[in-house]
Amino acid sequence: MSGVRLTNVKKKFGDAEVIHDVSMEITKGAFAVFVGPSGCGKSTLLRMIAGLEETSGGRIEIEGRDVTQVEPADRGVAMVFQNYALYPHLTVYENMAFSLRLAKAKKAEVEEKVQEAARILQLTDQLKKRPSELSGGQRQRVAIGRAIVRQPKVFLFDEPLSNLDAELRVQMRLELARLHRQIGATMIYVTHDQVEAMTLADEIFVLKGGHVQQSGKPLHLYDDPDNRFVGGFIGSPA
Ligand code: ADP
Ligand code: MG
Repeated sequence: MSGVRLTNVKKKFGDAEVIHDVSMEITKGAFAVFVGPSGCGKSTLLRMIAGLEETSGGRIEIEGRDVTQVEPADRGVAMVFQNYALYPHLTVYENMAFSLRLAKAKKAEVEEKVQEAARILQLTDQLKKRPSELSGGQRQRVAIGRAIVRQPKVFLFDEPLSNLDAELRVQMRLELARLHRQIGATMIYVTHDQVEAMTLADEIFVLKGGHVQQSGKPLHLYDDPDNRFVGGFIGSPA
């Protein structure tokens, strides 16, 4: 089954069409990576899947359900942002509990889900702290924890590691790979970093100018790029 399927998806801002008839299928449970240069439409595509941006045409399905007109909160997706977007005045626990409380979850359920997310992310000892008392890596984990508690079908990451230093980025990459193995949900990860794409992806989608240039398994794109753009961007130095 497909985790996420896009069919002829378009996006216009005013007269400018920035996503042109994109069709793609992401395998359920796969770690998919959208990679491409700045401005190619990665964030816009992700925001349309999340429902944060309306489509100008086409259809978006999540695990076989047409969600094109469905509210973001009801799509079964959760987005992790680059800038964490944590609430500075709330504790780590309350940051992770926030969306569950909004959805009027019972206290015991909130407790169970937050503790579970904290365990997965090794934040159990940090739950009473505020974001300002955490390291960059820990803050990033809290942002991921806020997604985990909602038990989404699809996790969406928009360049979540780009504010971290190089060493921490490598460590967080390993953690994300572990998280994916552990949770098994479909994940879509946006980056302009080819190394990140090659190391994390089960399936890569190379974007350029609002099109998918090529998609496939990392090694396939590396060994057999369809064109010079993909070859130059992802492939071996020819
Ligand atoms: P990426 O994430 O790959 O860097 P974006 O999806 O942010 O690219 O942007 C794709 C294109 O759409 C760019 O040309 C950008 O300027 C344009 N764009 C994005 N958001 C808006 C917006 N809200 N209004 C107008 N143009 C936008
Ligand atoms: Mg972007």
